[in-house]
Amino acid sequence: MFSDLKDKRVLITGSTKGIGLATAQAFARAGAKVGLNGQRSDDSLHVLAKEVAALGGEAEYFAADLTQTEQCEQLVTAFVERFGGIDVLINNAGGLGGRKGLESIDDAFYQHVMDLNARSALMVTKYAIPHLRRAAKQSGNTTSVISTGSIAGREGGGPGAAIYAASKAWLHNIHRNWVKEFTKDNIRFNVVSPGTIDTVFHADKSAEVRDKISSGIAMGRFGTSEELAPSFLFFASHACSGYITGQILDVNGGQMAP
Ligand code: NAD
Repeated sequence: MFSDLKDKRVLITGSTKGIGLATAQAFARAGAKVGLNGQRSDDSLHVLAKEVAALGGEAEYFAADLTQTEQCEQLVTAFVERFGGIDVLINNAGGLGGRKGLESIDDAFYQHVMDLNARSALMVTKYAIPHLRRAAKQSGNTTSVISTGSIAGREGGGPGAAIYAASKAWLHNIHRNWVKEFTKDNIRFNVVSPGTIDTVFHADKSAEVRDKISSGIAMGRFGTSEELAPSFLFFASHACSGYITGQILDVNGGQMAP
């Protein structure tokens, strides 16, 4: 399964931990060439890339704060210099950015949450498009953009998470537009939309709150990052999903069935 991912050049933003790291590990096991990214410049992250590469593929860490457009461009340039092109882009960097009710939201908070979840994906995709187009032309197969959406983008988000939820709905929707603009170039666009996944994203929650959330999930528990990863491989693989574009795949243990 996923054998066509061997040697594919896969850039995964926000992949130093959580869902992004588990996905990077899964791609490496499939023999892919993986670009890891986070906002920090730190030797331990280069060590992490070596550990990922040891799983079977190649891997390199690229520091870039994707809330900054020029760093989105630098990330794509550095990845292409290292691996020679891009076959798959995964826009996974993102986060809550804090919780604020409507009456507490100011311009700085709005800007930060939108930059982290919307601008980051927009700008990395913008700079990746020429490379994805070229790779599709050279291989004769589709190339792929996959973004990490959210159940919050479907149902509005929890208390104080309105801008985060709206930014994910924005991401879900902009994919639909990109399908119209770039299908002629043989580039596919799909979203993996997680429910509640056990990562540091939920570090602010008490055991009581976690139990309450779990009781609202049909499977009765949070998901794991490892349970998310294969969905990204599915959308990355032309053999598995070459006729699938513009879709949102909800991976949420039955928390919601949109
Ligand atoms: P996480 O906090 O474990 O990982 C976030 C990753 O993004 C880290 O690698 C971090 O370094 C990186 N990152 C953060 N800010 C960045 C920046 N400015 N520039 C570059 N990289 C940056 O979180 P996670 O739970 O694994 O979340 C990954 C994605 O999944 C996010 O987009 C998140 O919104 C989404 N998501 C998570 C859940 C969940 O329940 N965990 C649910 C729905 C959606």
